[in-house]
Amino acid sequence: MKYEPVKNYIGGKLTEASGEKLDVYSPIDGSVISQVTLSTTSDVDKAVQAAKEAFPAWSNTTIKERVQVFFRYKQLLEENMDELSKLVQEENGKTYDEAKAEVLKSAELTEFACSLPQLTAGELLEVSRGVECREEFYPVGVVASITPFNFPNMVPNWTIPNALALGNTMILKPSEIVPLSANRIAELLTEAGLPKGVFNVVHGAQEAVEAICDHPDIQAVSFVGSTRVAKIVYQRGCSNLKRVMALGSAKNHLIVLPDANVEMTASNVAASMTGCAGQRCMAASAMVAVGNVEHIIEKLCEEARKIIPGKNLGAVISKKAKERIESYITEAEQQGAKILVDGRNYKVEGKENGFYVGPTVIDYVKPDMRIAKEEVFGPVLSIMRTDDLDEAIKIENSSQYGNAAAVFTQNGSYAKYVAERASAGMIGVNIGVPVPREPFSFGGWNDSKFGVTDVTGKSSIAFWTKLKKTTIKWNPESRVNWMS
Ligand code: NAD
Repeated sequence: MKYEPVKNYIGGKLTEASGEKLDVYSPIDGSVISQVTLSTTSDVDKAVQAAKEAFPAWSNTTIKERVQVFFRYKQLLEENMDELSKLVQEENGKTYDEAKAEVLKSAELTEFACSLPQLTAGELLEVSRGVECREEFYPVGVVASITPFNFPNMVPNWTIPNALALGNTMILKPSEIVPLSANRIAELLTEAGLPKGVFNVVHGAQEAVEAICDHPDIQAVSFVGSTRVAKIVYQRGCSNLKRVMALGSAKNHLIVLPDANVEMTASNVAASMTGCAGQRCMAASAMVAVGNVEHIIEKLCEEARKIIPGKNLGAVISKKAKERIESYITEAEQQGAKILVDGRNYKVEGKENGFYVGPTVIDYVKPDMRIAKEEVFGPVLSIMRTDDLDEAIKIENSSQYGNAAAVFTQNGSYAKYVAERASAGMIGVNIGVPVPREPFSFGGWNDSKFGVTDVTGKSSIAFWTKLKKTTIKWNPESRVNWMS
């Protein structure tokens, strides 16, 4: 095994968990690169105790002091960029460039956290003569972050810098499929000067997640993963009276109009459907072609054929994922859809045991087919045809999900018409992956997110803090009525 077996990181120390052991595979060639021990309820409790112990001292520092750690952490992410990117590439299977883009985004997320002192100065108003009301942000306490396999470095960093800079202490439960990056993040945070116990990692699966949802000393839970599990975590955490934010699956629609810029649309759509092998919650999954867009579809297929597994297209996460993706394609074909570019049964020379699916473009998909409705999570684009813009919007609106939607056109009023009516939290106009950049927030609608706030940016401040409102009479002898 290339890497030492992965242990929990609790109170600044590597600690053996007590559950079952799982092999960690590299999707690139199917080899076993490490092993992870899953945590039980009592392992989670150990991490909570460490975070609870660290909370009073950490939350008593000023935010100006706390962000100093994150200035250093951002620098460490940059200094270790190559190594961190290779680790993401190895455990997740994405390309080196994609892995590097992920770590760069982690640095940008950390940069935002460094600006939190400017955004959390609180408010003060003289509400009556000599009487003031002030409002301040307080951390909520011990918090947890549960993350998926598709961004082993970036998704943990959606929550870590903001939650910690705002004074909380955290337990991260990364995906057991990609446990390696989480421990490197913990080491870098320690190197940046984060006190022991402020950030802890527990590896594990269902039992660890359930223990987090049930633990009385965890105040807030952030979850990112599939809608199926997001619903479980949201319901279980809320029923235990915690605040929960749970981001789920996606099915992102791109509405393409005939006047769209051909080159730009084709390359954007091809990049959006294949980036990270389609395993992005922001990936283009369904294209609604309005009217005659033959020329764009032709160019899109040309672009898709230039994307080669093992070269500029990474692997999907597992053999099971490869089989699931290919079965969606085969089912659509059997139901009458036309495969324009076929990525099934792809073998990469020298990496025959890797989990690769080539870019796949499927035309004449009908809105009631399974491939049109469900999240495929692979480099697959389903094209649905319509002659009517309102019909295209209806197709987008009928999705159970609502992470992202995009419109490709050069007509400003059509773009605005679609942007206003799409039922999604993140909208792209001539952009295939409309991830908002800091200070804007990331979060979907409908079954793509449960909870009120978004996970990043300004909106996340409300999730990681509670407000204290203080009313002060400075000159009690003046007998001023605070209501007057
Ligand atoms: P997943 O739901 O299988 O796993 C996510 C986390 O939940 C992991 O830490 C896992 O250990 C845990 N988990 C899995 N099964 C569980 C169970 N039965 N009970 C309790 N915990 C459980 O998701 P995944 O396959 O790792 O990630 C892919 C999914 O994540 C896709 O659906 C994708 O759209 C979604 N995702 C969404 C966003 C977003 O911003 N909305 C971002 C990234 C990924």
